[in-house]
Amino acid sequence: MKKSVFCLILFSAAMALFAGCGEQQSSSLPESQSAAVGTSQAASETSGAEEQDSSSTPAVDDPFAAAAGYRTENAARYADYAAENPDLTTQQVVSYVNIGLDTPFYSGVETIADPDNLLVLCNKYHQLPNGYEPSDLVQISSANSNGGKTLYLRAEAAAAFEQLCAGAAADGYTILGQSGYRSYSYQEQLYNNYVARDGQATADTYSARPGFSEHQTGLAMDICNGTLSYTEFGQTAEYEWAKEHLHEYGFVLHYLPGTEQITGYMTEEWHIRYVGVETATRIHELGITLDEYCATYLE
Ligand SMILES: [Zn+2]
Repeated sequence: MKKSVFCLILFSAAMALFAGCGEQQSSSLPESQSAAVGTSQAASETSGAEEQDSSSTPAVDDPFAAAAGYRTENAARYADYAAENPDLTTQQVVSYVNIGLDTPFYSGVETIADPDNLLVLCNKYHQLPNGYEPSDLVQISSANSNGGKTLYLRAEAAAAFEQLCAGAAADGYTILGQSGYRSYSYQEQLYNNYVARDGQATADTYSARPGFSEHQTGLAMDICNGTLSYTEFGQTAEYEWAKEHLHEYGFVLHYLPGTEQITGYMTEEWHIRYVGVETATRIHELGITLDEYCATYLE
């Protein structure tokens, strides 16, 4: 009960922010974060927002113009998508269309230009370049890996993961890594096995096609509590702890319940993604997916 009230407050706060001042939102990105965003509009810091203002000049009656992340070139798509989805808020319409959700998953796929960016978005519209492998993978300590499995993450994410495990332990909880970095070929093998077993349509709901897996970025980890299977992590006390504290270590839960239509994947309470403390905190406060965050505030 207490939690749902808290969530409601968070949600209302996020909506109030959205409704109020879209451009101010994007221009208030921390500088360090803006600088890290290679090709995004936010990368040009505050001047980017000003430029966007003067070049956008949306029609005065465009109900989406005040939403964060508004893009003039998408105006017609916003209107069409809103007509098909009358229950969505204007902010959701803008964010979802920017993601590409008005087109089928795996359509209009773009190759990620800067896969080493810690804020890289690897989803069903953005594919890693052929043969991509992070150059700074490091092994997670075996103490923080389930069964002592050999797991890798990129250096910054690995250090943060060790701190996350230590932080959980200090509060009396156990968080262990189950699956970290996966190469293209390993993901290809996994995906093909799932397709052979369940058919492609079903496999696509829970397994990423090779080149599209966040695990290939070296920034994602599947976690468990060492007692239950990782797929049951959502039923653990550790999950409750994680929902409140992951962002303090720079991680977000990417595939939360209720976000299936946005990410294109079924709920995975066990899948966490490193984005750094600032961004993780912002995403946590906004109560949105990484996909919405990137499509609204970074691109
Ligand atoms: Zn995962």
